[in-house]
Amino acid sequence: MAIGQRDATGARPSRARPAGAGAAEGRKIARVFAILEATYGARQGEPDGDPLDGLVGTILSQHTSDVNSGRAHRSLRAAFPDWGAVLAAPDEELAAAIRSGGLANLKARRIKEVLARVAAERGDFDLGFLADLPLDEARRWLVALPGVGPKTAACTLLFNLGRPALPVDTHVHRVARRLGLIGPRVGAAAAHEALEAQLAPDQIYSFHVNMIAHGRRICRAPVPRCGICPLTEVCDYFHDSVGLRAED
Ligand code: SF4
Repeated sequence: MAIGQRDATGARPSRARPAGAGAAEGRKIARVFAILEATYGARQGEPDGDPLDGLVGTILSQHTSDVNSGRAHRSLRAAFPDWGAVLAAPDEELAAAIRSGGLANLKARRIKEVLARVAAERGDFDLGFLADLPLDEARRWLVALPGVGPKTAACTLLFNLGRPALPVDTHVHRVARRLGLIGPRVGAAAAHEALEAQLAPDQIYSFHVNMIAHGRRICRAPVPRCGICPLTEVCDYFHDSVGLRAED
C-alpha cells in the first residue's frame, strides 16, 4: 500500500452506552460533554488515511509541534514511494527526510522497528485488520509495537480507523483531573480507559477534540482561566479552590 493511501475499513462506533460507568460519573461527564459541545461545537470524525500512515505520523508528532511534525510527515511521503522503501532505507536517509520533526535519529529507528514488526507479523503494511478486531484486542496489538504507548495507539484507532478509543494527551489529562472526571493520582496511561468507560462510543471523538480545545484556550497549564470558563458548575478544581476563595 502506498504511503497515505486511504483505507475505508474503519468500523463505525456503536451508540451503546458502556457498561461499568457509575451513575454519578455518567451524569457528570454527560454535563461536561454537553457544555463542551455547546461551547466548541459537535465534532464528527471520519477515518483519515491508512492506519500505518497515521501511526507513523503520531510517532513523528512526539515531542514536537504540529507544524514541525506535519512538515516531517510530508517530507517522508515525498522521499519514499512506499513503506517497503522506508524500511529498506538506511537509517541516516530516513532521519534526513524527517529532520524537521526533531529527534530524527531516534524516530527513524522507531519507525523502522515498527515497520519491520508489522511486516513480520502481517506479511504486508496494511493495518486495516485492526478495524475488525475487538477494541481491546486492537489496542493490545498496537501497544505491543516498539515505542507505541496508549496515546499513540488510541490516535491511530480513533483518527485512522474510526474506532471509539480516546487519546489522552496532556490537555485531556489536565482538564479531566481538574474537573474531577478522574482522580488526582490517575496517570495519563490509566486515564485512557478510565475516561473511555464513562463515555458512549459515539461521544469519544467530539469529547477528545473539545477537551483539547478547552485545554488550549481556557483550562490552560499552569493557570486556568476559570473566570471565563463555562464548566465551573461541574469543576472540582473550581469548587475546591477558586470557589472557596470567592467566599472568603
Ligand atoms: S473551572 Fe477552571 S479548572 Fe475547571 S475546567 Fe474551567 S478553567 Fe479548568
